[in-house]
Formats: sequence, C-alpha cells, structure tokens
Amino acid sequence: MKIDLHCHTRVSDGVLTPSELLERALEQQVSLLAITDHDTVDAYQQLPETPALTLITGVEISAQWGSMGVHIVGLNVDLNNASFQTQLKQQQVAREQRAEAIAERLVKKGLPNLLEDVKRLADGSQIGRPHFAEAMLERGIVNNQQAAFKRHLGAGKAGDVKAQWPHMSEAIEWIVASGGIAVLAHPLHYKITQTKRRALISDFKAAGGEAMEVISGSQSQAETTMLAKLCETYSLKASCGSDFHRPNPWSELGIEANACPSICEPVWQNWI
Ligand code: AMP
Ligand code: MN
Ligand code: MN
Ligand code: MN
Repeated sequence: MKIDLHCHTRVSDGVLTPSELLERALEQQVSLLAITDHDTVDAYQQLPETPALTLITGVEISAQWGSMGVHIVGLNVDLNNASFQTQLKQQQVAREQRAEAIAERLVKKGLPNLLEDVKRLADGSQIGRPHFAEAMLERGIVNNQQAAFKRHLGAGKAGDVKAQWPHMSEAIEWIVASGGIAVLAHPLHYKITQTKRRALISDFKAAGGEAMEVISGSQSQAETTMLAKLCETYSLKASCGSDFHRPNPWSELGIEANACPSICEPVWQNWI
C-alpha cells in the first residue's frame, strides 16, 4: 500500500493543478493522500467531492525556530475552522510582504527587480522563493533552480527572508486548535548539527507536536532508521511523504507504507 502525506500543487509552488495531482496519485496507486501546499488549503476547493482514494486535509506552515526557518505540516485540519482560516490569511499577507522584501534585497545585490516577473509566474498562487528562481532562470541570471538557491535564495543568502513567520509553537497551536495533528516536516533538510536537531525535535514535542516525517522523498535506509529511532526517543508518531512538487527532479508521489520502520507508530493508522 502506498501513502503520501506531503505534496504540493500549483496553488503553492508545485506545477500540477489539484485535479492533476489527484490523477497522478491514482496512477501511482496511492491509497491515502494529503495535499500540503505552503500556507494554503485552497487546493481542497478544487477537487472532486468523492475522490477515488482516501483524502486527508493538509497544509505546510512556514514557521521559525529561533532564527531558523522550519516547516510544520498540519494533517487532518478542519478547513472550516474560522481562526485557522484567519491564520492562513495572515501567512498569505506575510508571503506577499516577504516577496517585496526579497525583491528589494536582490536589487541591493545588483539583480534586476524581479517582483513583476514573479507575480506573473505565480499567477495567483502563494508566492515562494521557487517563483524567484524561475524568474532568474527566465532572465538567464542562472542556469537552473538549484543555482538560484545556491547563489541568491538559500539559507543565509540575500533572498532568504523569513522574519515574519510565526514561532514554531504558534504554528503547532494553530494546527492543534483546528483539530489537526502537527508533523515536523523533513527533519534532515535543516542544516544543523545532530545535537541541535534533537533540541528542535524536543521543543517540537513540548509544544504539542505529535508526529515527525521519518521518510521525506528519497533518502537512505540509514537516514530512515536514524529518524525512526528519534521518533521512538521523543514518543512521536511517524509520517511519510514525497514532498512532490513536479515530476523532475523531485521525488515521485507515493511512499510504500511498509518502508516505515516497524518500531514507529504510523500517524495514518486510523485513516486507512
Ligand atoms: P519558500 O516557501 O518561499 O520559503 O520556499 C521554500 C521552497 O523552495 C521549498 O518548499 C522548496 O520547494 C524550494 N526549495 C528550497 N530549497 C531549494 C533548492 N535548493 N532547490 C530548489 N528548490 C528549493
Ligand atoms: Mn515548496
Ligand atoms: Mn518544506
Ligand atoms: Mn513541502
């Protein structure tokens, strides 16, 4: 059985429409799916009422832990919760303001003002750094998205603006208050020492976090085993997701549920 509890549509920085994503998930024989766009749940308004797989609501909230940006996935959230809707609106305003700040900072670094290009490329979606990467690619400033992140947008670079995100504990509170489960996304993506990673996981758990991604996209067996042990240590449930954004070079949709180590309690066990 395949599941996927982390993936994106063009409502944020993915390329497929929500319906195309659902279709692709079915092609890949995924039986349990959560769409987790950045700071928006609008994809759920664009889906058929009775999809041919089990669909769980989801979102990926941008937050801060100290000076570091972290992503908190919310699963099984109530889309009609008024406070949650207001909080996501705040995030969207923050994204628009951040886009302006990123554009200004890049101009100071000698790049052209990319804001209008970015807005055109985003075409109403939640603006993110990948849209800036696309604009740089379009203007020939870089040869690929990876280079755009390496030189201008990645951690510590001019375009890495994140000051307006809520603290991780707030993002967890929003998710829990809307009836959802907070999941620490891709714990290996953060470029920190293992000691600091443990501190992050410990703070996440103390703030009401319930699960952690043990499998995120493609990773080694050793990484999966290490994350499974951390789950056990901090009494967290395990989640798995591809973090699919586009067919290439991102991971394909769908993770074999039995790839999740048996020492873990799956976050999805009551959903399937
Ligand atoms: P943002 O939501 O604006 O903070 O941008 C973060 C998004 O940028 C992530 O969700 C990824 O989709 C993308 N991203 C992050 N790092 C890279 C990278 N090195 N190369 C390509 N895309 C990246
Ligand atoms: Mn993304
Ligand atoms: Mn993420
Ligand atoms: Mn993601």
